[in-house]
Amino acid sequence: MSDSWSCAAGAFLRALLDAVFPNLCPLCRGAAEDGFGCARHRLIFDAQKGPGGARCGRCSCTLPEPIPAGTLCASCRLHGSTPPIRALFDYHCDRASREWILAFKHRARPDLKEPLGEALARRFLALEEEPGRAVLLGLPAHPLRRFERGYDQARLLAESVGKSAGVRSVPALRRTRWTYPQGAPGSRSREANVRGAFRLVERYRSAVADARVWLIDDVVVSGASAQACREALRGVPLQSFTVLALARADRRRPGRLTGAGSGAEMNG
Ligand SMILES: [Zn+2]
Ligand SMILES: [Zn+2]
Repeated sequence: MSDSWSCAAGAFLRALLDAVFPNLCPLCRGAAEDGFGCARHRLIFDAQKGPGGARCGRCSCTLPEPIPAGTLCASCRLHGSTPPIRALFDYHCDRASREWILAFKHRARPDLKEPLGEALARRFLALEEEPGRAVLLGLPAHPLRRFERGYDQARLLAESVGKSAGVRSVPALRRTRWTYPQGAPGSRSREANVRGAFRLVERYRSAVADARVWLIDDVVVSGASAQACREALRGVPLQSFTVLALARADRRRPGRLTGAGSGAEMNG
């Protein structure tokens, strides 16, 4: 059986099961109360507060105790060029959400964009005071990863968040050149690796101009890719530019990223 046939058959079976048994866990097809998973895979989140713990007021990285929440981390104080980053989950601590994200990215489950997009839309609506002026941009996947997967997960996620929240999403960014997989042996610093790697698609300039721009991604590790996307829009006047990710991962805990398939910035 060819891969495309088994993939299509799997999608058909999932759609059939959804029609007959509407409350199944999207991840394992076990019984569930709603679309956010069974007891084992339950997506537990706080749309108002985002991931738990004391976090940097700008980049949402975890702050060491006893630093109070909202304080700027050393990186944001010293460099200050990272755009504001908001997230729904902590990649290291929220085990169930990590399983969802890995299935969405690496196990041919683009259909998970819908529950994940709905959850992220709740966070977006809790953060954005003027959704009518917002526009969502998916952070473009690495071309090699998009080729392997057959889809660009951040773009699917941006479309799904847009659908749930009633906000426009536009594919306004492109990768312009090859970059090393982030964190690969021999790769340059994250910042040097992605600098100049994105550009604005000109026909979307007017859709982005004067908008409140939200860059949508699955996992943010360093924010270097997000910063490179912000630089790609430098010639366009924006009301604001904020990154919104399913999960925030921490550079200081790299060991827990490996084996988990790594964050978006590690391999797009
Ligand atoms: Zn489940
Ligand atoms: Zn910070």
